[in-house]
Amino acid sequence: MQFIDLAAQYQHLKDKIDARIQTVLNHGHYIMGPEVKELEQRLSEYVGVKHTITCANGTDALTLALMVLGVKEGDAVFCPTFTFFATAETIAYEGATPVFVDSDIDTFNISPFDLEKRIKETISEGRLTPRAIIAVDLFGLPADYPAIKRIAEKYNLKIIEDAAQGFGGEINGQRAGSFGDIATTSFFPAKPLGCYGDGGALFTNNDDYAALLESYRVHGKGKDKYDNVRIGMNSRLDTIQAAILLEKLVAFPQELINRNKAAEKYSKDLKGIYKIPTIPEGYLSSWAQYTLVADDREAEMAKYRQQGIPTMVYYATCMHQQTAFKNMGYKDGDFPVAEMLAKTVFSLPMHPYLPEEHQSDILEIVNA
Ligand SMILES: *Cc1c(COP(=O)(O)O)cnc(C)c1O
Repeated sequence: MQFIDLAAQYQHLKDKIDARIQTVLNHGHYIMGPEVKELEQRLSEYVGVKHTITCANGTDALTLALMVLGVKEGDAVFCPTFTFFATAETIAYEGATPVFVDSDIDTFNISPFDLEKRIKETISEGRLTPRAIIAVDLFGLPADYPAIKRIAEKYNLKIIEDAAQGFGGEINGQRAGSFGDIATTSFFPAKPLGCYGDGGALFTNNDDYAALLESYRVHGKGKDKYDNVRIGMNSRLDTIQAAILLEKLVAFPQELINRNKAAEKYSKDLKGIYKIPTIPEGYLSSWAQYTLVADDREAEMAKYRQQGIPTMVYYATCMHQQTAFKNMGYKDGDFPVAEMLAKTVFSLPMHPYLPEEHQSDILEIVNA
């Protein structure tokens, strides 16, 4: 059994994906070919935003978002400590300081309550200028944007939505990728919408941000690629990856239904055995991961391993516990909820082509 079965998905979509790739091989426009623009239009329609700018990966997307907001040394950018490294890494890469925030115990997402506390502390210390919040749609569930927005307005901060795992999620019918001033996503193969290599995108309704992003992703281009008006990057989505994503996006709505069905089945059968994921009223998760909490996670994971069922831990180390951020002066106990999650969470196999028999096998093991 696979934790995420990418080959099963390919078998399902093979003819369409092969044909799309062949089209690119025939026309030969491997960089910024017509499929890139087409995909950007389709993504804007799907997410419900004015502009989509694709790029090379989800980490670059975060870096590009911070560049557009002018985040620099001396700035504080607030982000959850319980996330993938790239969220915090890109803040530090831009020379700014990541200020970590504890998690909500039920949703695992950034805690709005702790967020406001850390903003107030940063202001009263007076060393850094609070500039932005990166909220992460962890495991596919959108963060609490209604609360985050109120805080951002109160303290005049920009919001970046890190929807690398959240693509496809919703709050009251509004889709992930549309919640921040800028949102980012990743098309890493294992993400809810993945390609066959690296890829990423940014979403925004702001015309000025979109124009800046178009420039930054191609060496700070002006009139053309050889007119360079600012320091940028080389961060483009390959045409072949765009072609693959065009077909994957067509299949995505049904895949999202499949993922939600699989999650419902897990939750129905595992309720009372573990702490199952909490999806607040009006929210839809894209189930990048199906993540449980167990006091003795090692023992639980061993049970599955013995039966050949893969499980994974996302994430065993919080950002404030990472070696790269050791010099920031945080200590164990600073983020009690996130630290507890890092010690107790584990994830079950989850993908849109999870056969019902396999899922029943998994559930039998725990119920035995
Ligand atoms: C995967 C991921 C990223 C980075 O995406 P890449 O395409 O791998 O660079 C950023 N943030 C989160 C939360 C992620 O899960």
